[in-house]
Amino acid sequence: MKVPLLDLKPQLEQLRPRILDAFTRVLDSTGYILGPEVSEFEERIAAYCGASFGIGLSSGTDALLAALMSLNICRDDLVLTTPYSFFATMGVVLRLGAWPIFVDIDPDSYNMDAGQAEAILEADRKNGRKIKAILPVHLYGQCADMQKFKVLSAEYEVPVVEDAAQAIGAEYPFVQQDGSVQWQRAGSMGLCGCFSFFPSKNLGGIGDGGMLITSDSAYADVVRSIRNHGAEPKYYHQRVGGNFRLDAVQAAVLAVKLDYLDEWHLARVNNAAKYRQLFAEAGLVDNPIVLPAEVYAGFAGASEHRHHIYNQFIIRAPRRNELRDFLQSRQIGCEIYYPLCLHQQECLPAQLNRNQRFVEAEKAAADTLALPIYPGLQAEQIAWVVAAIGDFYR
Ligand SMILES: *Cc1c(COP(=O)(O)O)cnc(C)c1O
Repeated sequence: MKVPLLDLKPQLEQLRPRILDAFTRVLDSTGYILGPEVSEFEERIAAYCGASFGIGLSSGTDALLAALMSLNICRDDLVLTTPYSFFATMGVVLRLGAWPIFVDIDPDSYNMDAGQAEAILEADRKNGRKIKAILPVHLYGQCADMQKFKVLSAEYEVPVVEDAAQAIGAEYPFVQQDGSVQWQRAGSMGLCGCFSFFPSKNLGGIGDGGMLITSDSAYADVVRSIRNHGAEPKYYHQRVGGNFRLDAVQAAVLAVKLDYLDEWHLARVNNAAKYRQLFAEAGLVDNPIVLPAEVYAGFAGASEHRHHIYNQFIIRAPRRNELRDFLQSRQIGCEIYYPLCLHQQECLPAQLNRNQRFVEAEKAAADTLALPIYPGLQAEQIAWVVAAIGDFYR
């Protein structure tokens, strides 16, 4: 049995007529840049995530870049972030001449550890405040510890930019003063949140696309201007921006898909539950396979809230590379996200970070593996994957 890591065909077949309608509507409109398709989609994403404004951008990477440019982050500024993410998280910092300051991850959530971030912010305060933003990533579809990052943001007066590229719709439990829990969606908790509509994300376009959401109207205005070469009005440039616009055709197609996003999230959550059940029945849990932790499952109301959207289903596995090769030889798709940490990338000046150690991030890079989890994956395919992993360790 063939099990791809990701198969977009089931959703395409489900939506083909509606996508073609959207496509034709944009084509016939002859308005291909911004316009109503983009602004309506922006409003819907902002509403879905619980923010006031959405700004459609050309990719998740450009959303992050526009977010930092709009904060005037420039040469030799510092940005506090995680060493364990997709390259774009760090790439945008470097492109502005700024430097990433890494904080190791929490080994359960794979997200930036807020406790360690505090010590660095405290040292930075004494050093003249060069940290200009905190950039946590909600990796694999589960939010970083935003309650703590919000406290740090207020205490040290540093804005939080959320890299929510993998986590659209993921909910985080804020504990209120009276002990009750208020769930908030990824991207709506910091100054802004950045999404990617790369086809493999939970909400994926038919090409590149991204969005920034915020509830700060002045900041939204700056991002909107940066998206369009900083022009305000047209041909009068108050700042240097770029062409970071979301295409109307992507917005129209994504708007069709947004109607199904909750259904697809649920399918991923159910697939994750199926994996848990089958790994347990096969006696593989904890030894040798470590399943992904649902770090917010214990909070009040968790069962009614989407605290993990499973953009990826990540296991830890001994002899990981051998297991990957074995699964691939059985035509089971799997992938390593990410084989090398950001601080180990060659593009960084060696003296900067490559000789620093981030033990948990390096461990994760060495022993994690993503298994197929996409909506449309069949129960027998999941069983086949688990059986193959059982065979490997037998
Ligand atoms: C996908 C992704 C991005 C970049 O998004 P693109 O749309 O591919 O530019 C940024 N950060 C993370 C964590 C991602 O997963």
